[in-house]
Amino acid sequence: MKSEEVRAKHREYLFPSCANYYAEPVVLESGKGVRLKDLDGKEYLDFFGGILTVSLGQAHEGVNRALHAQIDRLGHTSTLYPTLPIVELAEKLVSLAPGKIRKAFFTTSGTEANETAVAAAQVYTGRQEIIALRHGYSGRSLLAQSLTAHASYRAVPTQVAAIKHAHAPYCYRCPFGLEYPSCEVRCARDIEELIQTTTTGAIAGFLAEPILGVGGFIPAPAGYFEIAVGIIKKYGGLFLCDEVQTGFGRTGTKMWGIEHHDGVLPDILTMAKGIANGLPLGATLATSEVADAWKGGNISTFGGNPLSAAAANATIDAIVGEKLPENAAAMGRILREGLLVLQEKYPKRIGDVRGKGLMQALELVQDETRKDRTPSPGATLRLFEETRARGLLVGKGGLYANTVRIAPALNVGRADVLEALRILDDAFAAIEAR
Ligand code: PMP
Repeated sequence: MKSEEVRAKHREYLFPSCANYYAEPVVLESGKGVRLKDLDGKEYLDFFGGILTVSLGQAHEGVNRALHAQIDRLGHTSTLYPTLPIVELAEKLVSLAPGKIRKAFFTTSGTEANETAVAAAQVYTGRQEIIALRHGYSGRSLLAQSLTAHASYRAVPTQVAAIKHAHAPYCYRCPFGLEYPSCEVRCARDIEELIQTTTTGAIAGFLAEPILGVGGFIPAPAGYFEIAVGIIKKYGGLFLCDEVQTGFGRTGTKMWGIEHHDGVLPDILTMAKGIANGLPLGATLATSEVADAWKGGNISTFGGNPLSAAAANATIDAIVGEKLPENAAAMGRILREGLLVLQEKYPKRIGDVRGKGLMQALELVQDETRKDRTPSPGATLRLFEETRARGLLVGKGGLYANTVRIAPALNVGRADVLEALRILDDAFAAIEAR
């Protein structure tokens, strides 16, 4: 079968809302590391990793060996039976988690990890109200759609009344029109008024991503989480940290994105994506106090299934054993420097370069040189087609669909980063020449 036939069947049999990238979607067929091939034999350099999920690249030998061994031994049990891989994984995650996190609950996606986190916070505090962030993304269930603050991801008006959205720490488009640091992190301080004016004053918690991922890789500036979480604690809430995109060394040097904010300790940590190199797995970690408060039944048929857990154990062993958070920092530096060079070369189009480690983004605008920060989703689309034609896959994001998200596997090498930068350069040259 050729790519065109697959695209035709996709159009015929899948929900149209299950949208693909590119005017002619890429039908990926095989891959090794960051090198992918489509059904027609065209090769690509993968700098999005299945949305920051394939942490070690495709067909990783260690992960595949663990998977083969596990599927030949035991494929599924449900959470009703303890298994070797699930306890090994729980112990590993707890040993890597910050602060007083001691227990894990497994599901199969980031959405469920966040659902579990919110329920755990509500059970523990006996309260309902949750503060989330504008530009945040929490998943696709009705609760997660309500936590998510992007109109385009809200299929129905599912606003759960107990959720209030705080301003995002989006410095490039500061919601208060201020400049960091003279702003004194007004967006964080504003959470106090949000609680005082829109809640009962007794909140269950604050759910936030250390770097807003789908929002366009928007990192919170230094000081943000110290202030925000301080306010949350003052009003009796828990801090629910969503590490679905930022976890497992993605941000460089540290295992978790929140660890870049000294002394800020989550009560609940959620993760998925990069945990198992592509196998479906979500995890909600919590302090013993929080986990122990959940007395009711709590089952997830596929949660922490032996295959995903075995893949996760092998993935995390490689991340730790091969010091991949360090590699993410080193390669992230080269990537960032290259992106800043591109910004100098294309000053009109590239408004902002931001991110941490191997989680870097470009926000494209109409004309930054004239301070016209009007988002340019059109240029972003054109850049997508030009990079695809040259064999580079990147991601898109941002409320205005004008952010290019770049996030290769954590074990990517220097030559691949330089090649991706070269292709981006050529692609920008092509769209600017038109
Ligand atoms: N949280 C964040 C920060 C995410 O980026 C995502 C997925 N993009 C989710 C939660 C939901 O994860 P999933 O798609 O696995 O349900």
